[in-house]
Amino acid sequence: MRRKLIALFALSACASPEPRPAALPMTTAEPAAPIASEAPAPSASASSSAAPSDIPAPIAEIQKLAKTSSRAYAIVRSLTDEVGPRLAGSPGDRAAVAWAQRTLAANGFANVHTEKVKVHRWERGAESASITIGGVVRPLAVTALGGSTATAPNGIEAEVVEVESIAALRALDKHAATGKIVFVNQHTRRTRTGQGYGEAVGARYRAAEIAKPLGALAVVVRSIGTDHDRLPHTGAEARDDKGIPAAALSNPDADLLHRALDEKKTTKLKLTLLTKRHPDAESANVVGEIAGREKPDEIVLLGAHLDSWDLGTGALDDGAGVGIVVDAARLIGTMANKPRRTLRVVLFANEENGREGGDEYARVHASELAKIVAAIEADLGADRVFAARYLGAPEARPTFAKMAGWLAPLGVEPDMSDAWGGSDIAPLRALGVPVVDLAQDASRYFDFHHTANDTFDKIDEAELVQAVSAVASLAYAIADMDGDLGRVPEPKRKERW
Ligand code: ZN
Ligand code: ZN
Repeated sequence: MRRKLIALFALSACASPEPRPAALPMTTAEPAAPIASEAPAPSASASSSAAPSDIPAPIAEIQKLAKTSSRAYAIVRSLTDEVGPRLAGSPGDRAAVAWAQRTLAANGFANVHTEKVKVHRWERGAESASITIGGVVRPLAVTALGGSTATAPNGIEAEVVEVESIAALRALDKHAATGKIVFVNQHTRRTRTGQGYGEAVGARYRAAEIAKPLGALAVVVRSIGTDHDRLPHTGAEARDDKGIPAAALSNPDADLLHRALDEKKTTKLKLTLLTKRHPDAESANVVGEIAGREKPDEIVLLGAHLDSWDLGTGALDDGAGVGIVVDAARLIGTMANKPRRTLRVVLFANEENGREGGDEYARVHASELAKIVAAIEADLGADRVFAARYLGAPEARPTFAKMAGWLAPLGVEPDMSDAWGGSDIAPLRALGVPVVDLAQDASRYFDFHHTANDTFDKIDEAELVQAVSAVASLAYAIADMDGDLGRVPEPKRKERW
């Protein structure tokens, strides 16, 4: 399925990304990246930072409860230790769906159920890359991008043409890449918002798609990541079943390849990717609810994605998000004074390699979207929330700013830039459902994201609990508010900023 997705990836915002130039054809998932400018945003209003005495009692109660009785850390530990990697369509994915149903039921959720989703199923297989310098073969740390086609069984060896960005790749002469392997040496900036990822991720997402018509045999990209580990970062690329093989090199290995080419110590790269594509598989979105006391048919949706890449155990991406939203709703469920509206947790299928869970959810629930008052997704790691952003009816923004001010004791600042939402809830935003970002500090996230290093030990429990507290506070506030947040204005539904 090809669909047009208009100008994602803004320079000034996101969790799904690319420097935003023109309209970009999307074939599968929006690559999840964070949005939002690094520049400090003006605060919503002078009165939006509530003094503790202005904070409604239930919100203060949530913030206290989170400190004393959060289970988020244990939930992520259980998912990562007991299920582990859970790439869409794999046995781990099926185990994760069963785990999620058990976990929601054990944590007091009502209406726990699955909603079937057909997902792409792809397997990595053996992979290797090398260059030869002075007669010595030098192996490079490499991993296939999600959905990549395979090379020939014995690999391919070809001259390399290096470019420093997607823009430079687009600008290559028509025959410059013919019969060659394209190396996209795009660096990723470390930023608190994830904006650096947003700027860089197009190199991963688009490289093969752009290089193929130039006659390239394959592409390798510098990992979209901020670390210096010899661990390559995988991630989705635009889906093309007849595409060329595509892989990521670890940052140190990209440096070596760059130096070797620059100093003319080598001109060729050998690449072997024995990936496999299987028929689509069955997976599921897993859903559970904490019923509202007064308007149970109106919904505040809390989302995270249940699937992960296969290299690590998906602790930060997105085990942490699962822990945050499940625990936020669970904590509210333990309160005597429930909010008026229902909290619905949705753990989405296959965000990483196709986003079928998010697309299917919006399709199946199209008739009840008017009842979804707001959607919040946690998919930016396990670190603390520093800002709250909004995208809904403009006339409700002051009300939102007031509610966001109740997060002041957690160190959360209101931020006037528009929220993005998240990859899985973007299809809801596209249909007008208001979205809220509780923007997490992503400074460390892209050191580990989509690597074998995305494991439980990277999570700081105190930071995770702060994020739970922020999500629970704002989810309660919206679920209990007078009036609602209206709908996202038409021009802002797909286009970002
Ligand atoms: Zn994610
Ligand atoms: Zn991811």
